[in-house]
Amino acid sequence: MIHPNKHISLISPYALASLKPPAGKQLVSLSQNESLRPPSPRAISAASNAIASAHLYPDPDWNALRQTLADLHNISAGEILIGNGSMELILCIALAFCDKYGAILAPRHAYPFFKTAAQIARARYDTSPERKEGVCVDSLLDAVKPNTRIVFVANPGNPTGTFISRSQVLRLREGLRDDILLVIDEAYGEFVDHLEQQVFDLVKRGDTVVLRTFSKAYGLAGMRIGWGLFPKLVRSATRKLINPNNVSVAGQAAALAALRDQTYMIETCKIISKLRDSFAKRLKKFGFNIQQSFTNFSLIQFANSEIANSADKALRAEGVFFREQSGAGLAECLRATIGPQQNLNLAVEILEDWLKGENT
Ligand SMILES: *Cc1c(COP(=O)(O)O)cnc(C)c1O
Repeated sequence: MIHPNKHISLISPYALASLKPPAGKQLVSLSQNESLRPPSPRAISAASNAIASAHLYPDPDWNALRQTLADLHNISAGEILIGNGSMELILCIALAFCDKYGAILAPRHAYPFFKTAAQIARARYDTSPERKEGVCVDSLLDAVKPNTRIVFVANPGNPTGTFISRSQVLRLREGLRDDILLVIDEAYGEFVDHLEQQVFDLVKRGDTVVLRTFSKAYGLAGMRIGWGLFPKLVRSATRKLINPNNVSVAGQAAALAALRDQTYMIETCKIISKLRDSFAKRLKKFGFNIQQSFTNFSLIQFANSEIANSADKALRAEGVFFREQSGAGLAECLRATIGPQQNLNLAVEILEDWLKGENT
């Protein structure tokens, strides 16, 4: 018999959305926080053109992409790493800075891949309570143990959608020991850039990483490109674990062209934010409980997990897929990605009908 390593056996397969509509129904996926529109036309044509040189390996140093990111965000190209999605960076950070003697800490309702990364790194995974409004800095600081090595915080959070201000992030950083790496995952950062609460400058301290991705606001989830700003020593260690040639020629070309079309990306964020707030407003009118979201999704809270399951079933019966959130400790919630207006209308109608059934 061949046996995998014990810590690998203990990991349950990463739960992505299961998306099989019932016979005769069209799939309406509002489950993976994908953008409601395709990438910028410039990204599409750049990626298509790049395939002509696909017999060559991609630039292993992502030079053009790093320089363009640096110019755009007023940061240093030498501190940037590009990942095969930011998930690759999250995993490599965990592997480089934690092991079976250490612990990784995150808020209780954090992005579930932080836990997976901890498990792969054989690290203990600790969580701390959140408040209704989101991440609680004091409870994170209280949960720090002598062997805590990394703190992961997604800001805005997924699946909560909540956002903590720059001053809260600063308070967290200043309250942590300086041998604890703080990783701020800004996968939805572009949706809040207008709030002018950037934290890239914290990287200069030497103990903080800021991650972003092309998967959400730039609509390039299928291309798998994430990036991060790293202090020098953290960068060089993490880099050793990244797969060399990790981002395809088409991926690098698409990301570069998408960056050069800021107008398109900003427009995407505006369209989504508007739809998101009106979706939440309509559902709240029926009595649904929804926190203000700063992302491309809304988290709907039900009275308990059975009622959330019942709503999920009603949606699925019509081919509409939200995402259940037991993995993030929120089994009483469903997360709805903000899709095109007609899909949101359909979801609202189904929920309204379901609610009538529940109340009779
Ligand atoms: C979507 C998401 C990611 C994953 O991004 P990729 O770049 O597609 O790997 C990371 N963190 C959070 C919080 C996310 O929501």
